[in-house]
Amino acid sequence: MTQEESQTQEESQTQEQNTQRPELESAHDFARVDDGFERLWTPHRMAYINGERPTEHAGEGCPFCSVTAKNDAEGLIVHRGESCYVVMNLFPYNPGHVLVCPYRHVSLYVDLTDEETLEFGSLTKASMVALEGSSSPMGYNIGINQGAVAGAGIRAHLHQHIVPRWSGDSNFLPIIGQTKALPMLLEDARQRLVDSWPRT
Ligand SMILES: [Zn+2]
Repeated sequence: MTQEESQTQEESQTQEQNTQRPELESAHDFARVDDGFERLWTPHRMAYINGERPTEHAGEGCPFCSVTAKNDAEGLIVHRGESCYVVMNLFPYNPGHVLVCPYRHVSLYVDLTDEETLEFGSLTKASMVALEGSSSPMGYNIGINQGAVAGAGIRAHLHQHIVPRWSGDSNFLPIIGQTKALPMLLEDARQRLVDSWPRT
């Protein structure tokens, strides 16, 4: 076989392999049980991927500075305190995932004043009480990712995550699909928290 013939044979084998790829099957005929859950719907995640990255600076470029200029429903704000506020996380790990933030554009927990530290803590507790009332979590992950190395998405403006947890809430989707099913829309989740917010 000449070199040319050998090349031609290789090319036709490659073409054959390409045409032998299985076609995607429709899911229509697969066995299934309707489970009554809302469908996977994460438009906020796409907005994040397509959107502009927040800046390091205070003011309009920082989502935690600029969100407070919006009204509560628009900005998904659950509660406004004197020095700190609570807002729904736009990219939640679980339904009811909220963030406690100081109004001031400070990066580090040690930058908080005593007054801010106190309210940062009391709003964390109040958020948990509201979550108990609205969705009875079985547990929580609470914490601050301090600095980019620790995974802080917006490291310039301090924020504490409060993530309610339920048994079996972590399924294959975050690993396989890089996304997660969220059965409750953010505005609905915010309203439930507002309704359950502890009265002082
Ligand atoms: Zn800020």
